[in-house]
Amino acid sequence: MPANPGGHFSSEYFYGGKIMRVFETIKAAVTLRQAAEHYGLTVSRNSMTCCPFHEDRHPSLKLNEDYFFCFGCGASGDVIDFTARLFGLSPYAAAKKLETDFGIGAEYEPLPFPTHAEPSHDGARLCICVLQEYLRHLRIWQLRYRPKKPGDSIHPRFAEAMKVLPTVNHLLDCLLGNDLLLAKQTAEVLCREGYIQQLSEYLGTLSEKERDCA
Ligand SMILES: [Zn+2]
Repeated sequence: MPANPGGHFSSEYFYGGKIMRVFETIKAAVTLRQAAEHYGLTVSRNSMTCCPFHEDRHPSLKLNEDYFFCFGCGASGDVIDFTARLFGLSPYAAAKKLETDFGIGAEYEPLPFPTHAEPSHDGARLCICVLQEYLRHLRIWQLRYRPKKPGDSIHPRFAEAMKVLPTVNHLLDCLLGNDLLLAKQTAEVLCREGYIQQLSEYLGTLSEKERDCA
C-alpha cells in the first residue's frame, strides 16, 4: 500500500480541470471572512462567528482560509457552499452571486464541444459511479475526522473532504442534471483528461479499513 494514497489524486489535479475554473476564480478572489462580513455576520479576531445554520448564541463557526466548520452543528464547506447555504442556492448560483456581489470578472471558458459523433453513455455512467463512490468516502471522512474543538489539528482526510466535496457535488450535478449537453460535455472532459481514470485508481488504493467502513 502506498504511504500516501491521497498523493495520486490531489485537489490541485482535480481543480485543474477547465470546468472548475469559475469556482476556483471565485474562491481565490473572496475569502470566507469577506463573504461572511459582506452578508452581515460579525466575525471575531480569531475568525469565529455565530453560526447562521443553527441556533447559536456563542460563536461556534470557524472561518478558516479555505473552508468553514461549525463546532455546533457540523456545517462545513468552502465560500461557495457557505453562500449557497446562506441563501438557499445551488453551488453554481452561489458562485454567480459572489461574482456579482464582489465584482469579480470570472473568465468563463466554454467547454470544448464533444468531438465524438456519438455521446459516450458508458463514459457518463463510469464518471457517475466513480464520483459517487468518492463522494461516499468524503462524507464519511468529513464526519469521522472532523476537528472536535477549535485548535485541533486538521486530519488530512478531513482537509481532503473539505477541499473536494464542492467539486465532486458540482460535477455530479452536471452529470445527473437535466441539461444533457452539459452532462455529455462534463463526462467527456473528465474521461479525456484522465480525471476519472486517476480517481478510480486512487479509490482502489484506499485501505481495506477505509473501504469496509465506507
Ligand atoms: Zn452551526
